[in-house]
Amino acid sequence: MEISEFQKHIKEIYFANDSKRGKEKTFIWLVEEIGELAEEIRKSDKKNKAMEAEFADVFAWLCSEANLYGIEVEKCVIDKYGNGCPKCGKNPCECNIK
Ligand SMILES: [Zn+2]
Repeated sequence: MEISEFQKHIKEIYFANDSKRGKEKTFIWLVEEIGELAEEIRKSDKKNKAMEAEFADVFAWLCSEANLYGIEVEKCVIDKYGNGCPKCGKNPCECNIK
């Protein structure tokens, strides 16, 4: 399943509920899921099932929020990152890490 297909899949499942909830409350849910991912990362620096589930939740909620704006996540990420780092234009990035 491609990113665009996954986003449509999430739209089929959740768009009605996401629309009722609205953009701001849906965004708050996304931020909560990022917090839950942060907790998993704090617990362990190794991949595990709980961490994978939180990555899944963050991406699903990101797609839900994008659906409310009619934004295609796949198009956005390819437009911005498809040719390498958007700042230096290189792949791998050669920007100074601070
Ligand atoms: Zn760069």
